[in-house]
Amino acid sequence: MKTENQPSRNSQIKISDDLRRHFELTLGRDEVGESHHYLYKALAMTVRDRLVEQWRNTRERYRSEEPKRINYLSLEFLMGRSLNNALLNLDIEDDVREALTAYACSLEEVESEELDAGLGNGGLGRLAACFLDSCANLEIPVTGYGIRYQYGMFHQKIKNGYQVESPDPWLRNGNVWEIESPDSTRRVKFFGRSEYYQDEQGKPKVRWVDTHDVLAVPYDVPIPGYKNNTVNTLRLWKSEATDEFDLEEFNAGSYTDAVAAKNQAEQITMVLYPNDASEQGKELRLRQQYFLASASLQDVIGRWVRRNGRDFSRFAEKNGFQLNDTHPTIAVAELMRLLMDEHGMDWDSAWKITTDTMAYTNHTLLPEALEAWSVGLVGQLLPRLLDIIFEINARFLKEVAKKWPGDSDRLQRMSIIGEGGHKSVRMAYLALVGSHSVNGVAALHTQLLKEGLFKDFYELWPEKFNNKTNGVTPRRWLAHSNPELRQLLNDTIGNEWIMELDRLEKLKPFASKRKFTERFMAVKRKNKQKLAELVLADCGVEFDPDMLFDVQVKRIHEYKRQLLNVLHIIHLYDRICKGDTDGMQPRCVLIGGKAAPGYVMAKSIIKLINNVAKVVNSDPKAKDWLRVAFFPDYRVSAMEIICPGTDLSEQISTAGKEASGTGNMKFMMNGAVTIGTLDGANIEIREAVGGENFFLFGMNAAEVEAMRSHYDPQAVIAADEDLNKVMDMLRRGHFNLSEVGVFDSIIAAIESPTDPWMTAADFRSYVDAQQRVAKAYADKHHWAEMAVLNTASSGRFSSDRTIAQYRDEIWYK
Ligand SMILES: *Cc1c(COP(=O)(O)O)cnc(C)c1O
Repeated sequence: MKTENQPSRNSQIKISDDLRRHFELTLGRDEVGESHHYLYKALAMTVRDRLVEQWRNTRERYRSEEPKRINYLSLEFLMGRSLNNALLNLDIEDDVREALTAYACSLEEVESEELDAGLGNGGLGRLAACFLDSCANLEIPVTGYGIRYQYGMFHQKIKNGYQVESPDPWLRNGNVWEIESPDSTRRVKFFGRSEYYQDEQGKPKVRWVDTHDVLAVPYDVPIPGYKNNTVNTLRLWKSEATDEFDLEEFNAGSYTDAVAAKNQAEQITMVLYPNDASEQGKELRLRQQYFLASASLQDVIGRWVRRNGRDFSRFAEKNGFQLNDTHPTIAVAELMRLLMDEHGMDWDSAWKITTDTMAYTNHTLLPEALEAWSVGLVGQLLPRLLDIIFEINARFLKEVAKKWPGDSDRLQRMSIIGEGGHKSVRMAYLALVGSHSVNGVAALHTQLLKEGLFKDFYELWPEKFNNKTNGVTPRRWLAHSNPELRQLLNDTIGNEWIMELDRLEKLKPFASKRKFTERFMAVKRKNKQKLAELVLADCGVEFDPDMLFDVQVKRIHEYKRQLLNVLHIIHLYDRICKGDTDGMQPRCVLIGGKAAPGYVMAKSIIKLINNVAKVVNSDPKAKDWLRVAFFPDYRVSAMEIICPGTDLSEQISTAGKEASGTGNMKFMMNGAVTIGTLDGANIEIREAVGGENFFLFGMNAAEVEAMRSHYDPQAVIAADEDLNKVMDMLRRGHFNLSEVGVFDSIIAAIESPTDPWMTAADFRSYVDAQQRVAKAYADKHHWAEMAVLNTASSGRFSSDRTIAQYRDEIWYK
């Protein structure tokens, strides 16, 4: 599929001329002004012009070559900034820097004007973004389909130690990176009822009537590959009211009701739900899911019908759908509906196409994240889809009964319709039944799916199950975010690693060469300096780059155990107060992440981190040993500065709970050493880098489960002098002297025998591992060797490897 580098029209126009033209003519500016906003915009337009040409060529190529097209359906795409990424991929950074000299302005200043596209919560949404990058890099014809939320992930501020949320109006100043395509607008139905009728041949048919329709208008975002002339597409849907809907209400005599109806339609894509790894079951969320699924499927089928008419015999050969978690799973039923009701297909043919094209990725084992929509809600909002889901279930249960005659328990367990207090549609089961592939996102996670959550389904269809360990794109997470290291790597092993990250292996011999490790650590030192500047600006805390930078940034969630980190900080602080600093290593601890606004415990944890930081940072005794900061508004563009400046990566979830993690991979690539449990991809990271270059602690997944029945945290606390002291300080309100009781629920959670996260159980092992970290860091040369080996061993965590596996083992198998 490789194409030759063709001289493009745009490449012959000088970047400086284009920049001036956009600045002066397109935007009508004559001075840079106070902010660099217009300069950013003009530069973004200049870069976009160069992408658009390659974009058209790519589309043309796909049209003429007719490869199988893959459609990646996701409610979240956490893209971050686009300008930096486009400059790297188009290889025009030097020209741009030169063009900017005319405006006496650095590229970094201009780049920082761009707002993050925060259309996702955390790991799942960022994974979708890394995947699109790798698909373009590998020249695979993949289209991302998502929602153009008018408000992305909320902004987080900290006031008096508490999280305060504010909206993210990321589109307010316009978005240079999207192109609206109103001629591809689709129509999505809601409400109404199923009508049964006979067609001209007397065949029984169904149509969905009396619906309230909403328009789906696509906005296309270019996804450039790395120096390969390929630009794929991310298509984001915006909801709009139909003209008829307005008229309907208007004729009924109510102009204001008509306008209100318009608002309702536009609400669908108004805001991203800010819950990570949990579901609220809100009707609007189901509307978003169906809106995305229906618009995207209609788009793909529409393109098919334009070229092939009503002949769907080769549709499954030429199209595939990857479901990013269960969020877009209603697509299984919607594809059935479109093929049968709108394109006249019979059930069996439609079902074959559906299961041949759909593939499902599971992202979590947490029960609170498993989506189950109430049958009542689905029946009201999507009546025709509920019919189809019932029929899918009836046929599926027949198959189960045939394989296990008389096993009614099993039928109940496996039914797509859950029969608890009220009936619900189990979306994960619908995804399993409707797909030919189901994958977990790390080896342990996939194994636990087979043994636990999906055991019955694994027994029925072992061939559907496969693992695809997550990865991250080395373009953004190494080449772009760490330019100093990029240069050092290029000087040392050449630059092929950017496209083939396994080549970092070639660094291994250099890990023991003093001259190289010194250069490597000099780069780390510069990155720590940059991170320290950011921490000072955003947290008001002074970090000293000579100290160990110990970092945990990720969503705040009990299973990720930020609490365990805090207990360690309190323990260190207690030692400092006692003058027991033997073997201690001066360290700066950074914790950052957003809590779902309704997640009370997670918000208390943020408050605790901030209160502990305040006490520690204002105690002069601690200054030389320990500094603590909470990083507000953790997001992609912040991580680009945080991960290169980190020494120690905290990956300390309760074993068996973190499906994979991807933050762990970004840190590793940038030469951080991990302290972590045997959870998610940590296991594979440790395997890759070697146990001697990874600080392992804590129970494994099996030990966690075995302990549950007899877990006694009070006894654990009583038996451990250090933990007892830490809990005592908490109980006595040492960190909340004027705020009585604010941490009571946290204390109770740690002391509860039903604490699902078993924080107290892993305390001793964690503190001991941190001691080993301190000792290792004190030996600069040893630490440098470990850091280099982490970067050198990170090749397999490139999302290029992950996507090559999706390509070979699922999409083009
Ligand atoms: C990588 C990333 C995540 C995922 O981090 P985990 O540690 O894997 O949970 C979340 N948010 C942002 C902004 C990221 O860049």
